[in-house]
Amino acid sequence: MVGVDQVLEKLATVIDPDLKKDIVSMGMIKDLELNSGNLKFTLELTTPACPFNEEIEADVRKAVDELEGIEDFVMKVTAKVMEGRDLAADEVMSTVKNVIAVASGKGGVGKSTVALNLALALGKTGAKVGLLDADIYGPSIPLMLGMKDAGMQVKKNDDGIDLLEPVESNGIKVISFGFFAEQEHQAAIYRGPIISGILKQFLTQADWSNLDYLIVDLPPGTGDIPLTLAQTIPITGILVVTTPQEVASNVAVKAIGMFQKLNVPMLGVVENMSHFECSKCSEKHYIFGEGGAQKISEKYNLPFLGEIPLNSGIMKGSDLGKPIMLTQPDSPSAKAFTSSAKNIAAQCSIQAAKLQEEMQAEAPPST
Ligand code: ADP
Repeated sequence: MVGVDQVLEKLATVIDPDLKKDIVSMGMIKDLELNSGNLKFTLELTTPACPFNEEIEADVRKAVDELEGIEDFVMKVTAKVMEGRDLAADEVMSTVKNVIAVASGKGGVGKSTVALNLALALGKTGAKVGLLDADIYGPSIPLMLGMKDAGMQVKKNDDGIDLLEPVESNGIKVISFGFFAEQEHQAAIYRGPIISGILKQFLTQADWSNLDYLIVDLPPGTGDIPLTLAQTIPITGILVVTTPQEVASNVAVKAIGMFQKLNVPMLGVVENMSHFECSKCSEKHYIFGEGGAQKISEKYNLPFLGEIPLNSGIMKGSDLGKPIMLTQPDSPSAKAFTSSAKNIAAQCSIQAAKLQEEMQAEAPPST
């Protein structure tokens, strides 16, 4: 008769391709019951957005199939996003499991477009997502979501403290510098300390409760905002958005250097406007050159997380408040956003696993 130990031993042959660890030691098998050959358990994946979820589930089924003496098998599959930041060290945002800061060397490379569509793509997988538009010099998220006139509400939390209430849009919680600037470009004239103060308020005095991923759309380049962000809360990592042109001009490289100095983890690079895909023949045309961002990621040892094609629908949709993830979910661009979002979620899980290991190594031995 097969026993629980044998089942666990067999399940431990299934390796999470991202985390490079077996699913049993990662604690992904829950509520296991085995009665007279009837096996039941829950497979708890590390994020609903993992690119390998289907593969892991299939490997688990195969492993159980190979066990002798299993009469009946029921598996529930769920996902619980891992904590990719040290929540114990963050008193004010202790229920936000991951903070992903989206950066670029210069403006106009599509950083906000990428941040928004990634947020929507993650939200579509079932994850709870927030989007903080911290691009003080051009807060474009309100326009891109068709919520330019959205006003912010303040509400009291259970302890009677006033908190900004993010605006809900398509299932994601949004706060933008743009909601506060009365005139266009007004925000950009504030001096550094004031800008830092406002960002701190958006982070620490807003209701970001229970989020799996908070995406922060940083201003382009290096300045007060990324510095304040890194110094105010622990963040999971930085995602760098580049275009082939930006790669050619070396601006992205400078930004990567500055973020590495800040000592925050780098999640990887996404190349935007990387190619044009012909709608008739589906051929990819690398108008601005091919493989630039890939080379950067190799040189700096950063994961290459995806390439987003040029698509006039992205630009038109942005101006009309209709993001391509929502209006053309089957387009090559939307599929590229989804695949990049999954790769980013996987990188967050990798950061989370590293963090877990570090914490276990630091914990005093139990007596
Ligand atoms: P940034 O945040 O880097 O300044 P934006 O996201 O505001 O850049 O994008 C700049 C412009 O480029 C916008 O008009 C946007 O709609 C357009 N854009 C971004 N990505 C693409 C793309 N892949 N294809 C076509 N247009 C794009």
